[in-house]
Amino acid sequence: MGWVEASYNDNEGNPLRIYTSCYVTQTNVNNWLRTPFIDRKDANRLYIDIRFSMRKCIRHKDPQRLQQCKETFVLYYYEAESDFANAMMPTWDPETYFKMDVIAADYLYEDENDIRINVETKSIPITRQGVYFAIQDTGACISLISIKVYYITCPNITQNYALFLETPTGPDLTSVVQKQGQCVANAAEEKRPTYLCKGGGTWALLDGGCKCMPGYQATPSQTCVGCPAGTYKWHTSNEPCRNCPAHSFSSHRHSVMCECESGFYRSPDDLKSAPCTKPPSAPLNLKLKSSDHMSATMTWSQPQFLGGRTDLSYRVECLECGTGGGSPCRECSSGVEFYPKQQAFNTTSLTVRGLLPSTDYNIKVYAENGVTQKSKRVSVAQTEFTTEAAVPAKINDVQVISVGSTWITVGWDRPLGSQGDIERYQLRHFPKNNRSGGDLVYTKQKNYTFRGLALQTEYGFQVRGKTQKGWGQYSDIIYVKTGTLVSRSTIEQGQGMSVGIIAGAIVAVILCMAIAIIMVLILLRRNRNGCNEKNVSECDNLQYTNVVHCAPLEHHFNGGLTVPLFQPPGVVKTYIDPHTYEDPNQAVREFTREIDASHITIESVIGGGEFGDVCKGKLRIPNRAEMSVAIKTLKPGATDKNRLDFLTEASIMGQFDDQNVIFLEGVVTKSNPIMIVTEYMANGSLDAYLRNNDGKFTVIQLVGMMRGIASGMKYLSEMGYVHRDLAARNILVNETLVCKVADFGLSREIESDTTDGAYTTKGGKIPVRWTAPEAIAFRKFTSASDVWSYGVVMWEVMSYGERPYWNWSNQDVIKAVERGYRLPPPMDCPEACHQLMLDCWQKERSHRPKFLAIVKTLDKLIRAPELLRKIAKQRPHNFIDPNMPDMTQFTSIEDWLISIKMERYSNNFLHAGYCNMEQISRMTVKELINLGITLVGHQKKIMNSVQTLRAQLGGVQMSEGFLV
Ligand code: AMP
Repeated sequence: MGWVEASYNDNEGNPLRIYTSCYVTQTNVNNWLRTPFIDRKDANRLYIDIRFSMRKCIRHKDPQRLQQCKETFVLYYYEAESDFANAMMPTWDPETYFKMDVIAADYLYEDENDIRINVETKSIPITRQGVYFAIQDTGACISLISIKVYYITCPNITQNYALFLETPTGPDLTSVVQKQGQCVANAAEEKRPTYLCKGGGTWALLDGGCKCMPGYQATPSQTCVGCPAGTYKWHTSNEPCRNCPAHSFSSHRHSVMCECESGFYRSPDDLKSAPCTKPPSAPLNLKLKSSDHMSATMTWSQPQFLGGRTDLSYRVECLECGTGGGSPCRECSSGVEFYPKQQAFNTTSLTVRGLLPSTDYNIKVYAENGVTQKSKRVSVAQTEFTTEAAVPAKINDVQVISVGSTWITVGWDRPLGSQGDIERYQLRHFPKNNRSGGDLVYTKQKNYTFRGLALQTEYGFQVRGKTQKGWGQYSDIIYVKTGTLVSRSTIEQGQGMSVGIIAGAIVAVILCMAIAIIMVLILLRRNRNGCNEKNVSECDNLQYTNVVHCAPLEHHFNGGLTVPLFQPPGVVKTYIDPHTYEDPNQAVREFTREIDASHITIESVIGGGEFGDVCKGKLRIPNRAEMSVAIKTLKPGATDKNRLDFLTEASIMGQFDDQNVIFLEGVVTKSNPIMIVTEYMANGSLDAYLRNNDGKFTVIQLVGMMRGIASGMKYLSEMGYVHRDLAARNILVNETLVCKVADFGLSREIESDTTDGAYTTKGGKIPVRWTAPEAIAFRKFTSASDVWSYGVVMWEVMSYGERPYWNWSNQDVIKAVERGYRLPPPMDCPEACHQLMLDCWQKERSHRPKFLAIVKTLDKLIRAPELLRKIAKQRPHNFIDPNMPDMTQFTSIEDWLISIKMERYSNNFLHAGYCNMEQISRMTVKELINLGITLVGHQKKIMNSVQTLRAQLGGVQMSEGFLV
């Protein structure tokens, strides 16, 4: 008994191999048939289709036999991890296998010629690696034609541009499997794509998906293909590629965007879909509509060509070009305001405010759009105009220049911000107690001397300026009191205030005439020296000098004596060394103003400079008042280096603007001869001027000159500038006796990175008599060494141009100064002045006063002239004090002390262990203090003697000596 393998032809006649079992007449039939091991692969659920035929049970009369015949069979399965089965295993019984179903045939045949095949499908969830199926026949007549085992999948599918791969269905008929899709080529995930695979092998509930990437467009067949040339797609979407916008192209497939044709641009803010565009053309018809002294309005029309854009805007550049041409233009100052705006505005008119009066301006209006920057094309229209003159601003720095018994000189600076010409100034003055009592006077100068004032009377002064526009506002009133006539004669005679006005006037007239005669002689001598070869205008000078000098030589003292009432606001500039410029011509361009040579007329030769003649002349710049100038020329045949050195002085001078520093009007470099044009200083250099006027000035006048020089030096030192050649020969004096620092040929900047701000020169000549010891010894020049030189200048002033250290050799000067010798007070020199000189000559440079302190000290002396009355003790220059015995002859300290009347300190020296004159010659003030000698007068007396002793021991040819 068992399943029998047989051949069989189906209805179509195809031969088949089949298994049959037909034991319908037997009892206890138990025939098993088992499939081989079937690997499940990816399946979660396995299906089995069984095709079979079954014969109908024939009715037997014997009911028992009939009962045995079956028309069903039983289907089992057995899961296993591997193919382990054999003839014994799994054991052939219903308990070992899992029963799937009892399968009955739908069709039972009776006639062998009419067999119909049944198909029965069953399925099971599967959890192990494989399965065996088994069929148990228990007595049917059955032919097993085929068994098909399979599983169901949801097929590969592309939806929403995502590919879902073939997926086996879940273990149960109702279960679903979620599958994640992958974007098709050139698509990007927009939302995670998912699809559910249902038990029947169909997909449901699609979610998410992908879109074609930039440069690719979607097709109906769920693919993304590159954009054809001439089209682009710049974002991820399933939209089609678009044709390139105007003036752009794409020469490759799958272009993300189209490039602009040459000359066309896109701004960074433009969409990729925007056409390419051009910058606009220049604004049209730019016209000045109106202007006054501080504002201007201009209008223009929209450019003809807008470049294919709508974002046209305007930007304005404002250049300030000085007055009367000739000066380089520079950006307008930050105070200038633009309405509606300076840039990014789109109105076709603009108002500029905060301009300077009488100034040339150049306004450039740029038309711009979003692609201007990319194209670098400049579309500009410009207009030039000159602002109207304004009434001058209120003058707020009126200063008292000098005060005499019956006169007062006041000075002021040009009103702030006035660019145009001040035609003249009007001054009001009145006694303080009678405001209606004053007169109006007019001047073109920036100072004025009121004469014939009452003695010891307080006057009020006010100034205002006038331009072609009219008068400005009056300055605030300053009150000044006329003083006491302080002069050498009055001091000597003990007279002061008691000098009567009439007597003063007589002295004044006599002095005036005397000075006039001297000046005539000086000028005639200059003429003889060939200084006035070119024309006869010096004759005018003569007359002019005559008139102007009458007053100064009588009463008027130094215009440099300024007592600032208001400090003009402003930042102290820093001096820039032109030598730091790689191209020295750049420094010239930056710090000087080019003057057209045709504006200069040379009148006479007044001196000889290092590089060529120094001449007097006139400067006539259009729209400016004519002025006298000094003109330094560069001699023909000068080398390039000469030219640069020559102009370096101008680059230095051009950085300064102070009433006590010589003012540079400009340079001529574009034609020959090259010239440096400065303000004209009628009285020339100070040393010669003093020598020519020996004894003619009052002490206050001399102190006033020194004050002016100190003030100029204060300005220079505050700018970080070291002069290095400060000497009376390098000070110039104008017609009102204002002294100004000049000659910047030797000067150098303080090196900021040196620790002590000292300048170390590489060599060059040093003006020994004027130079501080540390500058001579170590070539360290600082503002403190300038202070030393200033002390020597004071000495020159007080001695009317005497040569410092007379005819000593430079070596003797160096030795004597090193040993502590200091120049003695010149004749009639107030002790306070000499003390200031000694302060300037402190050996330790940090102990010297600063120029600010010097100015303050001199101001104090000028305000309180009684402090000048005490005259320093005088002795002749080359004098060896006859009362001062030969110190070297003393054998005992006591003898020496007796000789200087200081014997009271004998015991102090003795107890401290001093026993010979050798030791004494090395003494210092500090040691004296240690000895208990605390009185300054006694210290001075002893140290003077020590110094003389030192000199005598050292063999220095001593003259009058002072010790500090
Ligand atoms: P310098 O080349 O500076 O040494 O000038 C030579 C001489 O020309 C000086 O000693 C003055 O007598 C004269 N000088 C120079 N500059 C001026 C000036 N600005 N005003 C009048 N005289 C001047």
